[in-house]
Amino acid sequence: MTGNDDLIRIGTGAAVDELFGCPSHLGVKVRPRVVPRRRPWTPRPELEGFLLRPVTDALDRVEHDGIDEEEALAEVERSSPRLHPGLIEFTRRAVHGYLSAEVPDAGELVPVRDWWVISRPGERHWELFAWGRRYHSADGQHREIRLARSSNPADEVKIAIAAHVAAFGRPALWPRPWKEVFQTRTGPQVSYVRVVEVDLEGQRAEVRFQGTPTEAERYYAEHGRKRVAAIVAGGPEQPGPTCAQCKQLTSCGTLQRVPGVLGLTARPAPVRTVSVSDLRYYKTCPAQYHLRALKLPKSYEYSGEAELGQAVHAWLEEAHRGGRACDPAAMPTGKIPWTAGRWRVEGQLAKDGADMLRRHLEVCVFHQFEVPTEVRVEPRLAVHDTAAQAVVLAKPDMLYQEDGGWVWREVKTTTSRRSRWYHDDLLDEFPQLALAVLFLAHGVLGGEVNSARVELEVLRPRGAEIDVIDPTDPERVNKARHVVQRMAEPWRADEAFEARPGRDCRGCPVSKWCPSFPGVDVSNEEE
Ligand code: SF4
Ligand code: SF4
Repeated sequence: MTGNDDLIRIGTGAAVDELFGCPSHLGVKVRPRVVPRRRPWTPRPELEGFLLRPVTDALDRVEHDGIDEEEALAEVERSSPRLHPGLIEFTRRAVHGYLSAEVPDAGELVPVRDWWVISRPGERHWELFAWGRRYHSADGQHREIRLARSSNPADEVKIAIAAHVAAFGRPALWPRPWKEVFQTRTGPQVSYVRVVEVDLEGQRAEVRFQGTPTEAERYYAEHGRKRVAAIVAGGPEQPGPTCAQCKQLTSCGTLQRVPGVLGLTARPAPVRTVSVSDLRYYKTCPAQYHLRALKLPKSYEYSGEAELGQAVHAWLEEAHRGGRACDPAAMPTGKIPWTAGRWRVEGQLAKDGADMLRRHLEVCVFHQFEVPTEVRVEPRLAVHDTAAQAVVLAKPDMLYQEDGGWVWREVKTTTSRRSRWYHDDLLDEFPQLALAVLFLAHGVLGGEVNSARVELEVLRPRGAEIDVIDPTDPERVNKARHVVQRMAEPWRADEAFEARPGRDCRGCPVSKWCPSFPGVDVSNEEE
């Protein structure tokens, strides 16, 4: 990396969940003048990839330029990059939802085009601002920031930054180029601020903070200051989904480069993130994959059996956390409903799940073998396939070492008594096993590659079994490459993500945004 460390700019967008973010990425992201030494050239995606950009653009035109809602929407629909039809549908409903949401005790506030920015000049120039729509009273003393919400409520860090910025920020225009400082001006003394979250789907608004600047300062000191300091301090690299947007993608010392792990020929392409789940969604329907990747709000997608699988996984994850053996005495009996993580099962599912957990003891790494030297439970893995221009993500259920080699274990639950699957080959049935084989065959985890193996633990109420796949067997590696390549090739080549309506639409969690959704009564013949 090169450039200057003399400008620090933190927006609410940097305050992402600590668990999933990469501290090093955030530390560099908040330094607009620090740039890669060699700018990687990749083509731009043909479709818009930022969910709220069209919503924000349309609302700016309505609130700041006074144009009609329909006209503003028509404008963003013609904008570049192109919007997927599902994103157009979301944008229409979100803009309407925002403009018609009833904001409690809104008073006579008017939209403000200026941003509000707290800046602290010095050897290192600090700036704090909030992504959010700004409103104030005629005298400027009452300020409000409204945060558009498309999924989970904003955490307290974001609310604290927004409240602090509303209370003490000075008006400024957006800096162009981005590496320039905000040119702030003197504004009126603020006496009262609110932070309101507007639910774009539900047309509801919730006041998340209200008070005087002194109270905003206190709230920020309690909920925001420590996190902001941690973001600025940076920290270790933690490969994951953020790698694809990271300025350090080509220079990072921790993210492994594994050209060809997806088995694709090198080509210039926009960098994307991909997991086996993404490839499955793509195979079901390219539009469904794209709308999920955009993080459009989803409807509930879990059947009872899927909830059972999630509950068993969550129970085992918690029980093995920190490399501990699971405790048979702590296992649910199944006679009453039980919960694990955010999952709850009851009735026959509670019983089946409890039986599966008992069966797990027959194949548990900790109960059946000597305690392994190293255990990682549900680790998040990411590598950069520099040929496919993809950050490939995987999350094994467990990794442990035996004889110096890594064992990659996946757990599957099924209430079926049959030991046969739909496909004859496990790598066809469970493509994540194929990716596991390729990760181990490419030496992604290190260790003794010759002692590595992939294990599939199958849990049923009446039994448990382990299937083993050898990642040093050339036939298995070829098969794994074929499975992954067959799924990844069309996904990588696609830039349009067209809808493929059919029977799968019935369970599609993003169907409400899809103009091609044929309705739940689609017959099998229409596939
Ligand atoms: S490339 Fe990935 S691991 Fe490296 S700094 Fe960026 S986000 Fe972190
Ligand atoms: S409703 Fe059907 S066509 Fe539309 S995204 Fe979902 S699966 Fe695809």
